[in-house]
Amino acid sequence: MTTTLQDCRARDAQDPLRALRDRFALPPGVIYLDGNSLGVAPKAAAARVADVVNREWATDLIQSWNTASWFDLPQRLGNQLAPLIGAGPNEVVCTDTTSINLYKVLSAALNIAREDSPTRKRVVSERSNFPTDLYIAEGLCKERGLELVLVEPEEIAAALTSDVAVLMLTHVNYRTGAMHDMAAVTAAAHAAGILTVWDLAHSAGAVPVDLNGAGADFSIGCGYKYLNGGPGAPAFVWVHPRHADRFWQPLSGWWGHAAPFAFTPDYQPAPGITRYLCGTQPIISLSALQCGLDVFTAAQSLGGMAALRAKSLALTDLFIALVEERCAGHGLGLATPRDHAQRGSQVCLTRDEGAGVNGQGSGAYAIVQALIARGVIGDFRKGDGGTGRHNDILRFGFTPLYLGFEDVWNAVEHLRQVLESGEWQKAEFNQTHAVT
Ligand SMILES: *Cc1c(COP(=O)(O)O)cnc(C)c1O
Repeated sequence: MTTTLQDCRARDAQDPLRALRDRFALPPGVIYLDGNSLGVAPKAAAARVADVVNREWATDLIQSWNTASWFDLPQRLGNQLAPLIGAGPNEVVCTDTTSINLYKVLSAALNIAREDSPTRKRVVSERSNFPTDLYIAEGLCKERGLELVLVEPEEIAAALTSDVAVLMLTHVNYRTGAMHDMAAVTAAAHAAGILTVWDLAHSAGAVPVDLNGAGADFSIGCGYKYLNGGPGAPAFVWVHPRHADRFWQPLSGWWGHAAPFAFTPDYQPAPGITRYLCGTQPIISLSALQCGLDVFTAAQSLGGMAALRAKSLALTDLFIALVEERCAGHGLGLATPRDHAQRGSQVCLTRDEGAGVNGQGSGAYAIVQALIARGVIGDFRKGDGGTGRHNDILRFGFTPLYLGFEDVWNAVEHLRQVLESGEWQKAEFNQTHAVT
């Protein structure tokens, strides 16, 4: 059965989450399908940041560490985020970047795993994991004389051997939107005596996550993607309570100290997740992140993550169906799993190698540029040039907080026009920029 524009409008009219869109400062004329890269600004953020600057900082000055509760903001935001990822109270802090938090948890995980069984010398991850995760792991393995082993997703089970210390995975793959079964993979790792580190960069706020339910060991994630915390927003870190007190993390700064204002010369780690803080926190950035988290708190009364997930799947199902129906014959393929259980909140399309201008490349980059010129903002992720298993990708993130079904219809209609008119072949769309 084909879907019409009228059907999409009818679905929007019945959408119980529709009101949440008003909480975002979406620019007019833009269909934003890149919330998986940089989330949209919550309307409340500008006034909140101005208040932090003008009142808390400029007027109240240093007293604000106490009077505005700046000091425990990382813990308070962690508690606000915790229900989205299946964490308990006092198990999460918002701080630092995803890359830095990964360094902390991977170090701690290696300390624990290797204290328990020193012969374990490997870290296993996926070859198509987000590069910064692999770079951090590579650096840490080099520093400690360990080995980083990279495998394809279907090879993970066989790679869980008795010499592996830690399995480090990103729950939803940034390139394909493919999602791991966290509980099953964690159970398989534990059965082999291996600890797990889960990166939730494309999961937190995008799909329901249950870290405690899965019995996961360590987790980190990003504040500026689906959580809408702003560019460079502080990330988050979670450690299972069974591990949290066991080791220092390596960045043992004073904010992770049990009594930072005792100013003792020796380090005594704070109990629990607070020891995963390092130095003085970026209060203005944390305040903006809070506005992103507030939207999820407001969504609680509308069905919370379960309702957001149902809408996300409906949006991605619709996008896939409309692309296949209306953009057929242009060399597009689907990189994202059709199975709901294996899909995050994005859809990634591939394009055949050789389908680009004059048979060069895939043309995927130029198609994305032509869409951006029309106000349909997705992004492009480069493949391996047809030499291996990764095609060029046109990536579209679907954030149910502010996208509707009519947006999906219009995005596909623009894609259809870009392909049928050949407008993507223009030279201006075939020049590359520094940030893709
Ligand atoms: C976006 C993303 C990051 C970002 O790391 P930063 O330290 O914030 O630059 C890390 N890992 C994954 C899997 C991501 O998707």
